[in-house]
Amino acid sequence: METVTKSIITSLPVMEHFYTLQGEGFHQGKAAYFIRLGGCDVGCVWCDVKESWEEEKHPKFDVRSLKLEVEKTPAEIVVITGGEPLMHNLDALTKELQQAGFKTHLETSGAYPLSGEWDWICFSPKKFKAPLPGILPYANELKVVIYNKTDFNCAEKYAALVTPSCKLYLQPEWEKSATILPLITDYIKTFPQWELSLQLHKYINVP
Ligand code: SF4
Repeated sequence: METVTKSIITSLPVMEHFYTLQGEGFHQGKAAYFIRLGGCDVGCVWCDVKESWEEEKHPKFDVRSLKLEVEKTPAEIVVITGGEPLMHNLDALTKELQQAGFKTHLETSGAYPLSGEWDWICFSPKKFKAPLPGILPYANELKVVIYNKTDFNCAEKYAALVTPSCKLYLQPEWEKSATILPLITDYIKTFPQWELSLQLHKYINVP
């Protein structure tokens, strides 16, 4: 009988890691340690972290050394973002962090299979690479970046697929904020199940 061995990935490409405030979504305004993993092939035209795309450009960190970095701060929440973090198996990283008592939060487009153990999942689908359906039951918040009017259709499409308890956020694309924000405001007033997410960290000028 063939035995399938699940490979445990204990070393991950890290573009940057830092302690700051979560600027977006349900946990906006809370202190959090961010680990931004390298690698993304989703290809959002408006991506503000294009330097994350090439995984090979970023040094590999052992998951234990990442936990030790977080432990140098009073952080309670660790946000794993990217890039597209689910391009990597995150079982070992989240296990290490949760065993040390940290809450693990994920920011993902859902374009790759879900791995890891999570206290909170922010699902942010992108029209440039469709998400896999496996993420839908686990999303705690749905956050859709609005770049043009057709993105409202995308938002409603995924809102119909997530669980009833999933929080719903619309977030203006940063460069288009001036023109898109009034549309989002009107939309939320018409459909109040949605809430506004602003990139607070850009307004207060923190990473
Ligand atoms: S999924 Fe995120 S990192 Fe990847 S291209 Fe889109 S915005 Fe950039």
